[in-house]
Amino acid sequence: MQKNLSLFRKCVDFLLPLRCVKCGAILEKQEGLCVSCWPQVPFIAKPYCSCCGRPFDFEIEESALCGVCMNHKPHYTTARSVFCYTEDSRDLILKFKHADNLYAAPLYGKWMSQILDNIKDPLCVPVPLHWMRLFKRTYNQAALLAHEIAHLKGWPYMPSILKRIKRTPSQGHLSQKDRLKNVRGAFSVATFEKPRLSGRTVLLVDDVFTTGATLDACAQTLLKAGAREVHAVTLGRVVKPMI
Ligand SMILES: [Zn+2]
Ligand SMILES: [Zn+2]
Repeated sequence: MQKNLSLFRKCVDFLLPLRCVKCGAILEKQEGLCVSCWPQVPFIAKPYCSCCGRPFDFEIEESALCGVCMNHKPHYTTARSVFCYTEDSRDLILKFKHADNLYAAPLYGKWMSQILDNIKDPLCVPVPLHWMRLFKRTYNQAALLAHEIAHLKGWPYMPSILKRIKRTPSQGHLSQKDRLKNVRGAFSVATFEKPRLSGRTVLLVDDVFTTGATLDACAQTLLKAGAREVHAVTLGRVVKPMI
């Protein structure tokens, strides 16, 4: 039986070899990144802001907050991201967004679930797309990631609790202030969903943390609808220099 399984594995590896999620090179053993791509991805490690996860480039106590969170405490309790969104790492996310490497979802889900600690049995909720956008794009990349995390951790996956009720223009070139304005009132929780949310911890999942405005608006909506606390996790994180 063992022999058959390893033969089967060899056939699968031959037909569907493991590929580097960044450059597509065939990998020998482990899924993920090849040896040349690995050092190009700036994985985030401590120290970082205890709230929004912004990396610090100096040693500081674990409970420290960054200037942004000190000025305006977000509605989420913590936000964590796997790597900084840079010129070198952005293709990992763009290819995933444009369906070129959807096969990376389990790996990304694994990376994201590895950086979560002290979160007890949350509901996994993806940041939703407006239905018209979803119709055009056919899938929500945040939902794929939330589904993987829920599956790996054995947590409930709740893709329909949070809805995007307002079509918001692309946030690409907006400042943080304008982004906050842009997403105000954009999300809602239907009344019939509120009992499932009441008193629960939520893990909000998205692909990129840009200014945190979207995650903040989602967290505010979820708390107002009865959630006890909201944490967030993203794959990439834009780190703008502090002004
Ligand atoms: Zn590579
Ligand atoms: Zn912060």
